Amino acid sequence: MELRHSASPTIAIIGAGIGGLALAIGLIKRNVTVTIYEAAEQFSTVGAGIGLGPNSLNAMDAIDPRFRERYEKVKTQNEKPAFKHSIFDALYAEEGFGEKRGWNRGLIGAPYFTRSSAHRRDLLDVMEGFIPKGIVKFGKRVQSVEQVGNKVLIRFQDDAVETADAVVGCDGVKGITRRAVLGDIAPEEVQPTFCGMYIYRGIIPMQEAKEILGTHAGDAKFFMATGKAVVVYPISQGNEENFVFFVSNTGPWINGDAAVPCTKEEMLEDLEGFDHRLLKLLDYARPLRWPTWHHPQTSTFYNGRVCLLGDVAHACSPHQAAGAGQGLEDAAVLSHLLALVRTSDEVETAFQIYDAIRRPRAQKVVLTSAEAGLIYTWRAPGIGDDMYKIVENANKRLHWIWQHDLEADIKTAEADFYKLVRECWGSLQDDDPSTALRIMRRVGLGASGPIQCT
Ligand SMILES: Cc1cc2nc3c(=O)[nH]c(=O)nc-3n(C[C@H](O)[C@H](O)[C@H](O)COP(=O)(O)OP(=O)(O)OC[C@H]3O[C@@H](n4cnc5c(N)ncnc54)[C@H](O)[C@@H]3O)c2cc1C
Repeated sequence: MELRHSASPTIAIIGAGIGGLALAIGLIKRNVTVTIYEAAEQFSTVGAGIGLGPNSLNAMDAIDPRFRERYEKVKTQNEKPAFKHSIFDALYAEEGFGEKRGWNRGLIGAPYFTRSSAHRRDLLDVMEGFIPKGIVKFGKRVQSVEQVGNKVLIRFQDDAVETADAVVGCDGVKGITRRAVLGDIAPEEVQPTFCGMYIYRGIIPMQEAKEILGTHAGDAKFFMATGKAVVVYPISQGNEENFVFFVSNTGPWINGDAAVPCTKEEMLEDLEGFDHRLLKLLDYARPLRWPTWHHPQTSTFYNGRVCLLGDVAHACSPHQAAGAGQGLEDAAVLSHLLALVRTSDEVETAFQIYDAIRRPRAQKVVLTSAEAGLIYTWRAPGIGDDMYKIVENANKRLHWIWQHDLEADIKTAEADFYKLVRECWGSLQDDDPSTALRIMRRVGLGASGPIQCT
């Protein structure tokens, strides 16, 4: 449905990261009125890589086919044909990468899978290209969102107040919209949980990566050890190599929210026992320990007219390279649903169906990503440092993420929406949509309850 209805609700998106932009692209494509409020003064300039699996590319297609087309032009594949279909090659982090043990390859992938990654800047450039000027209001840090009657009040740090018919929080793992949704229902779920791991990250010109890593540069590799690991992969169309070191840190993160400065010596100490070539990459890392956070439990993605999308809903540890992909899937489903909404009273129905379809899958990605984090740092019970078991496990664990039928999700979402809203109206012979909503509540449709119209 591409037509904009005059009574269509106004949607405010909080946050212009990958999640917020993806939703905006989907809504703009479907002529839904949208405004994005972003705390920063400009789009993110974050320098890091990102890997996107087949499900993420399908989600781009579902949001707007041009999104995928443009991403395909900037994406980076593994360099050597032998690694084309692998998400990574599992190796030992120790001196020699396991060669002394006779280990020289541990491919994780599938014949249908083609490695795709990008510099985040390139991905965001593509996404920003779809957003007309004026849609994003920069320098607008939201302090609170509150539903008052049929509107949502958005209060900003600069004392300004705006209203919208509905708000979609895309404000990242520590986003304030999580409290608006879960504060009354499950207050213990509002704050993210430390993943038990911090990271060192950086980007290195490919030429220099090749001088350091030799033939190991240019293709995605995961070097593992007990309680630590490093992943490297090409970005920027092969001109740069992205790397992320993972260091386990059992116990709570007691250093506040942000990354903690450290010295080069501390980094080297953390990674003692790693091959000297991997340690050389630290010359290109910022001496900062970045804590990783996730939301292992989320009882609902919406509350009234406020809804969560992306990391604020389901931040996960990075070990399945699946977090942003889940945000893209959210955006695909929610943009299709909001395009069906004719009056602001129907928004809650759209949110309810989105929650029922998206939350179980996203939640599973969160939990399995934490599991993968343990496996790839040799701490999983029954697997430990057995690389054969690690490769076997990794080769089984990702298909349900990559091969998901998103089109079917969208069809189900649309069918459920019509069933709930339109059939309810029809059977009631009543033009007032709020009546349908009252009936839905009366028949006990909870956050993820059965989708039926009685
Ligand atoms: C080390 C690492 C590696 C990763 N690798 C991958 C990968 O390979 N593949 C993958 O799919 N995923 C990966 N991820 C996950 C991915 O980065 C996230 O899932 C994704 O960036 C989340 O996007 P988002 O838009 O939900 O949140 P964010 O990117 O955090 O964006 C939130 C936006 O909201 C704004 N904001 C916050 N608060 C407010 C406020 N109060 N008012 C207004 N604006 C606000 C912020 O300024 C920001 O622009 C990785 C994550 C990490 C940490």
